[in-house]
Amino acid sequence: MIFRNPAGAPELACDECGCRWFDRMTNACYECGEPMAEADTREYARAIAEWQARVGDRDAGAVAGDRASADSAPPGAHDAP
Ligand SMILES: [Zn+2]
Repeated sequence: MIFRNPAGAPELACDECGCRWFDRMTNACYECGEPMAEADTREYARAIAEWQARVGDRDAGAVAGDRASADSAPPGAHDAP
């Protein structure tokens, strides 16, 4: 199955157990071994491409960048009068 994470990005999940861990070598679920449907694989690839085209590389990297910028803010920065 394909669903959207809170950021709006498509996520591929196992039809059987709902987990999102797939072995890319065998296209099978790590948890229960259910093979990933080829139709789902193609749909997921298309969904990812559409999502990346919409948000662009900048927003795709912003998820990791947000944490870094928050960590770099000095704790005593609020020294305005
Ligand atoms: Zn599974």
